[in-house]
Amino acid sequence: MTDILPFLKSLISVSGLSGYESPVADLIIEKWRPLVDEINLSRVGSLHGLKRGTGTSPRPSLMIATHMDAIGLRVSRIVDGFLHVTRVGGIDVRVLPGAPVTVHASGSNEELPGVIVLPPAHFLPESVGEKILIEHLLVDTGLLPRDVAKKVRVGDLVSFANEPLELAGEVLSGHSVDNRASIAALTICLEELKNKPHLWDVWAVATVQEETTLLGAYTSAFELRPQMAIVVDGSFAKGPGASGWQTSAMGKGVGLCIGPNMHPFLHKKLKELAERLEIPWFLDVTVSHSGTDAFAIQVTAEGIPTALVEFPIRYMHTPVESVSLKDIQRTGRLLAEFIAALEENFIETIVWD
Ligand SMILES: [Zn+2]
Repeated sequence: MTDILPFLKSLISVSGLSGYESPVADLIIEKWRPLVDEINLSRVGSLHGLKRGTGTSPRPSLMIATHMDAIGLRVSRIVDGFLHVTRVGGIDVRVLPGAPVTVHASGSNEELPGVIVLPPAHFLPESVGEKILIEHLLVDTGLLPRDVAKKVRVGDLVSFANEPLELAGEVLSGHSVDNRASIAALTICLEELKNKPHLWDVWAVATVQEETTLLGAYTSAFELRPQMAIVVDGSFAKGPGASGWQTSAMGKGVGLCIGPNMHPFLHKKLKELAERLEIPWFLDVTVSHSGTDAFAIQVTAEGIPTALVEFPIRYMHTPVESVSLKDIQRTGRLLAEFIAALEENFIETIVWD
C-alpha cells in the first residue's frame, strides 16, 4: 500500500485558507495528474479529477468530495504594530497563544513570520484568565510599527506555520489535518484504482470553502451532476474530556455516518462492504445538518444520494489536529473497493427506506 505520509506532510505544510486555496490546490494537481484521465479547476477553484470507468457510455458517475480549505485568521485591526485578528472558519481560540503563524502581508506582498501572543497575565483583566477570547489575541511580527503599517493591511490572512509532527503510534499532528487527511485518503483510493477496473466514472473533487460557505460543494455538485456522492471529512475523536456519543476512538476504523444528510441505502452498502472486507468501521450519528459538504451536495438539483465517511481527529480546529494514519489507509481502501464493486445499474437499485 502507498506510503501516504510524505504527501500528507506536504499538504499540511502549506496554507490554503478558506477562499484562498491555491497553495494546496497546486500540490494536489501535481499528485493527482498521473492518477486521473483529466483534471481541471471549477470556476470557483475546486479541483475536478476525472477517472473514467469502463462501462458503456453514457456512464453514471460518482463524486468523491474532500474539502481542501483550512481554518485560520485574518487581521482585523493594527495597534502599535501588533495585529488583532478575527476568524476564518470555526477556530478553537484556547490553544492559539504561542502558535507560530505566517502573515500574508498584502502591502508588501511578503510572507512574514509571526507568533500569536497574549499580553502578560498581570495586565489582563482577571476574568481573562478563565476565558481567552479572540479579541485578546495579538500577532507579533517583530517589526517596528511604521514597518507594519507599510506592509500589513486590515483583512490580510494569517495562517498557521507549525511543521507537521509525527507522534508515536502512527499519529500525525499538525494544522489543516481537517481536511487534508481526507485528500490523502482519496489519493490512496485513486492509487488503488490504477489496478482495479471500475464501470462508473469517478470524479475526485477537492472543494473550496467548506469551512466558511460550502461554496465548492454546491457548485461542483451542480456542475458535475453526479448520480451519487461520497464525502470524506473528519469527526471528533475520543479523548480525555471528549467521550460522548459524538466521539469515536482514533485508529479503530472508518466512521460511516447516518443522519438526515446521508442516504441510508449507501450507508448500508458501505457497511456491508466494510464487513465483507474486514475493514473495521463504527457508526457516526449526526442529528441534523452535518455541517459538511455532504449537506450541500445532497440538496443540489433534485437531490443527490450522498454518503458521509469520516475519521476521528483529536483537537479539532486547532493547529495540532491529530489523526491516525491507519484510519486514512482504511478509508482510502474502502472507497476504492466500493467504486470497483459498483454495478452499472446500481443507481436503479437504491431506495430511501
Ligand atoms: Zn472538515
